Amino acid sequence: MRIQFLGANRQVTGSRYLLEAGGLRILIDCGLFQERAFLGRNWEDPPVPPGSLDCVLVTHAHLDHVGLIPRFVAQGYRKPILTVEPSADLAGLVLLDAGRIQEEEVETKRRRHAKEKREGPHPLIPLYTQEEAKTAASLFRGVEFGERVELGGKAAVTFQEAGHILGSASVLVEAEEGGRARRVLFSGDLGQWEPPIIPPPEGMEEADYVVLESTYGGRDHREAAPVRDQIAEVVREAARRGGNLVIPTFAMERAQELVYYLGGLLREGRIPQLPVYVDSPMATDVTQVFRRHCRYLKADIRCAVEGGTGLFRFPGLQFIRDAEESKKLNKHEGPGIIMSPSGMCTGGRIKHHLKANIGRPESTILFVGYQGEGTLGRQILDGEPEVRIHGKRWPVRAAVRQISGISAHGDQEDLLRWLDGGAPRQVFLTHGEEGASRALGEAIRERLGWPTAVPAYGEAHELP
Ligand SMILES: [Zn+2]
Ligand SMILES: [Zn+2]
Repeated sequence: MRIQFLGANRQVTGSRYLLEAGGLRILIDCGLFQERAFLGRNWEDPPVPPGSLDCVLVTHAHLDHVGLIPRFVAQGYRKPILTVEPSADLAGLVLLDAGRIQEEEVETKRRRHAKEKREGPHPLIPLYTQEEAKTAASLFRGVEFGERVELGGKAAVTFQEAGHILGSASVLVEAEEGGRARRVLFSGDLGQWEPPIIPPPEGMEEADYVVLESTYGGRDHREAAPVRDQIAEVVREAARRGGNLVIPTFAMERAQELVYYLGGLLREGRIPQLPVYVDSPMATDVTQVFRRHCRYLKADIRCAVEGGTGLFRFPGLQFIRDAEESKKLNKHEGPGIIMSPSGMCTGGRIKHHLKANIGRPESTILFVGYQGEGTLGRQILDGEPEVRIHGKRWPVRAAVRQISGISAHGDQEDLLRWLDGGAPRQVFLTHGEEGASRALGEAIRERLGWPTAVPAYGEAHELP
């Protein structure tokens, strides 16, 4: 049995592992590299010939876990891609969207280069097209949590709840070699212990080897006031100021969580009734997937939906797909709440809403997630007096607020708690900056006494 680490090593993007077990070649995740320093890897020849694989298993539908699959399929992979049911639907949306964005970016670059009469360093083709994304999406096969699926050969897989986003899973591969059974567990991305709308992660299954994410392996989330209270406070303050509350948000999970929080606060009378706009075709589609798969949500929420209480429905709430409807919001003076991707203000409709509101002292910009180095979101959050949007400089006069403690990833305590209960021979730490992975490794050795390793990209280990 052998494992090779082919992504998300000493950084957080491009998750991909090759497991050779039970006579099979299994790929676990096949994500896009999104950190600037590693973008080139998306264009390299695949480190494993796609046609040589027996199956691909997917932990969840984030781009850093599924984003390279269409390229893999275009290069010859034709077998099934197994994942939990809602993830299959979400992956379809995410990949199609990624194909569209890549086609558009190439078109924009082509026009710019033609105008400037120059050639760029890379060929002007999309990483993959919408057509290729569709073909890839058609290979996904949804299974249930807890269902043991035979992979042929002498291996089987079981998916278990990871509490990270809808349908997110840890993946347990059981395989037999030389008359010995071995269990290898891939944590996938693990959520906090009390996520608002999906169930918490299921604790670790007994396994011989564990591959564990470590995004916040060196951090403790826990000083913040409850998220619900922080949101109530900001909404009340924004309503008093009278302008719009503009929230840059990711279309998947974060948007649905916010809608869920706002609906609850409104029902409890803790915030005034305001128009709430979720301005994003993608967020609208993802919300439909949540409704369709409501049995994958927390028990109390599922019951509410089945009992007829609309989930993601309350007075004043509107989902906007149409671009013209979206433009009308630019004239909306407020008070009102406008949520739109992207979460770090790097693209999408949010830029238009920022242009319309960032110069107005009565408006508020609220950040609900991590803002990456160098992004427009980070500049606003860092208090820059002026920012550049669509090539023009805009003064920042709106109030800027941030909510802490919202995270789709568990912190060090959550991760240690997840581990509790097994006795693996080795824990491999991935999906974290090197410092975070090493900090978690140290905590595991100290508290649990298990050997840990922080593999480098391309590193292979025999699993004896
Ligand atoms: Zn994720
Ligand atoms: Zn991830």
